[in-house]
Amino acid sequence: MTTLDLHALALALLRPYRPGARLASGARWLSLSTESGLRLRFEVDGGVVDVELSPLAPGARYAARSAQVAFAYRTEGGRRAIDGARGRRLCAELATIVEANEAVVLELRSETRRTPRIREVGSGKLLETDPTGAYVTLSPYVGCLIGCRFCYAQSPLAASRRWTGLPDVPWGSYVDVRVDAPEVLAHELDARSPRTIKFCPIVSDPYHAIEARYELTGRCLDVIAERPGWRVLISTRSALVLRDLPRFARLDVQVGVSLPTADDAARRHFEPRAASVSERVEVLRTLRGAGIRTFAIVQPMLPGPLDALAELLNAYADSVTLDVLRGMEGAAEDFADRRYAHAASPAWQRARLDGLRRRLRVPLWDGELPPW
Ligand code: SF4
Repeated sequence: MTTLDLHALALALLRPYRPGARLASGARWLSLSTESGLRLRFEVDGGVVDVELSPLAPGARYAARSAQVAFAYRTEGGRRAIDGARGRRLCAELATIVEANEAVVLELRSETRRTPRIREVGSGKLLETDPTGAYVTLSPYVGCLIGCRFCYAQSPLAASRRWTGLPDVPWGSYVDVRVDAPEVLAHELDARSPRTIKFCPIVSDPYHAIEARYELTGRCLDVIAERPGWRVLISTRSALVLRDLPRFARLDVQVGVSLPTADDAARRHFEPRAASVSERVEVLRTLRGAGIRTFAIVQPMLPGPLDALAELLNAYADSVTLDVLRGMEGAAEDFADRRYAHAASPAWQRARLDGLRRRLRVPLWDGELPPW
């Protein structure tokens, strides 16, 4: 079985350094994330700098490179500008370290030349800790069969596939199934103190179609239910989530849906393989009826009747978070359609968000966790 372990790869590339260590320049390596691509966080001169590592590809933009790897910097997920000279210096220092170790990349690629699009893989390290320590993320699948074209996971996951020499295939057509996720989770939970676990919708939807066959999300919930103190946050675009109502009853859980529009024609245009608007509303209604706390995520803003959307959110969500379109990813064609082209503009996205905010009576939240 292939082991999907970018974490181990990162440690091998940066040898002898490990998180917590200082580089020769004085930059301190704070943390390592493989949740969507391979990202290292450093503290440099009192500021935080993230560096993304990706396999070198023709036409790629980077601040520094080794023979196999490209390095790009950003600050706190791109939320703040960074002094470019400082970012380039850090990337160049990392490139020098990696250059001495990168034979491991070639070894990894030779293991995985021919593989099916649905792969059963080992989990490697399963839980990713948020840099603030407030929560951990868990994804039993990497890759998502719902395949929304605006999904932000597709570029970083395409880079992850390139690390292992896998072919470029369309987003929405492949999944790595972490078949040992429940067993690995039990082990990892027993070694940690309880906090919130987010079933991460960034690299996959926890209830996309293949969950009906493998039931990994469901079995991971069983593992969590056996251990008191953990909170669970689940977000989905699939009605399969209702299968787990009996499991939710045993957990301290909030369950939400993405609901970016009340217009099912717009939903079908942008999210053709996700649950319909009425199915998602039914999910919220049923969860509420079963005494489960609900939330809704409206992101990106999509066209459709604004009052109707606000009415649904007010009626069925206990809290709501709003955000604008952050990038087209693969959805440029969808937004080029003359019915929807206006929705691509940042001004429309912002005005729509403000209009929705004014209409909502339920609590709004920013950031990663709803009020508990
Ligand atoms: S359902 Fe979520 S994870 Fe899946 S493709 Fe859509 S946005 Fe991405």
